[in-house]
Amino acid sequence: MIIVLKSQVPDPEVARVVALAESFPGISTEIHRIEGVGRSLTEIYLLGPTHAVPTAPFEEFEGVERVVRITQRYRFIGRHDEAGLEVGFEYNGVEFSQQTLHLFPGLCAVDTPEHVDQTFAALARLGITTTRAGAYKPRTSPYDFQGHGKACLPYLFELAGEHGIRVIAMEVTHEAHIDEIRRALDAAGSPTGVMLQIGTRNAQNFELLKAVGHQTEMPVMVKRGMGITLEESLNACEYVASGGNRRIVFCLRGVKSHLGDPHRNFVDVAHVPVVKRQTRLPVCVDPSHSVGRRGTGADGLLDIFHITAQGIIAGANMILVDVHPRPEVALCDGPQALTLEELPHFVDDAAIVRRAYEERRRRAER
Ligand code: PEP
Ligand code: MN
Repeated sequence: MIIVLKSQVPDPEVARVVALAESFPGISTEIHRIEGVGRSLTEIYLLGPTHAVPTAPFEEFEGVERVVRITQRYRFIGRHDEAGLEVGFEYNGVEFSQQTLHLFPGLCAVDTPEHVDQTFAALARLGITTTRAGAYKPRTSPYDFQGHGKACLPYLFELAGEHGIRVIAMEVTHEAHIDEIRRALDAAGSPTGVMLQIGTRNAQNFELLKAVGHQTEMPVMVKRGMGITLEESLNACEYVASGGNRRIVFCLRGVKSHLGDPHRNFVDVAHVPVVKRQTRLPVCVDPSHSVGRRGTGADGLLDIFHITAQGIIAGANMILVDVHPRPEVALCDGPQALTLEELPHFVDDAAIVRRAYEERRRRAER
């Protein structure tokens, strides 16, 4: 059971609500404060045999906005059928919510300072301040490029600062990477921000999920797990949230199947509205790791453009897409990278679809 308080409720009132809750047998409480965009929420979680706890006595408090009985399993990330509970978050000047849209084009793997510089310069020309950059790469073969790790962070962060990049989505595959990133950001004078990315292979690495959840400095993007259900993947987000970090984005990146598909993974953009309905989380689509190659439709549009468009028209809040100044020499995932020359067209295409989505939403509200 969750008791949602109105904003600015004085501490003695909060204490009275807590005292009443804890007067029921076996009930303990946890207080959670969520700093959302334009709004902060205080919620009191009742833990224990809450079926025996009536809602009415709590609803009588002046400071209580509503009492929600949790019927779903996502205690922290769930919507609990309450539309108003979705608050979003702000990080390093960028707002993330189920209403916003940000493009994160960038390098699958950082290879050279020159390529980082060229990529960031191209983003800056388009007014884009969010990107992706892989330093720690989980690879299927131990003989493939594993990423430059912490060695590339100093120049990556410095160049990000120079080109006005505010947020870099960066995968971590080990708890130690969080500290390495934090230290490198500090050493560089925090010229940019990092959104920690949990890759598909780590959606059930519970210790890593707890580690990114125990820090609240950097937000976390959790990618859909490989070979597990959507519910199991959303539970990865619940792990992060229950650790204390509520600034989470969920990313759809296709699902592995064995149907001889034309794409690297079976594209799952149909789940954008599903995840937005079930949770409070902003939803990202990764067309690059979904599609995995540069197929062009009969209409002349790359499949990666099509999947991006399908994600945006379904309400996606973030697009994580691979680009590279020279895909033919990329050390990881070159075949799915867009070129910097294709980027303006991509951004333009995304904007067309976003306008259509906004119009669809306006009509749905009428
Ligand atoms: C990535 O985004 O670089 C990546 C490895 O993606 P995924 O975990 O979805 O395979
Ligand atoms: Mn990749």
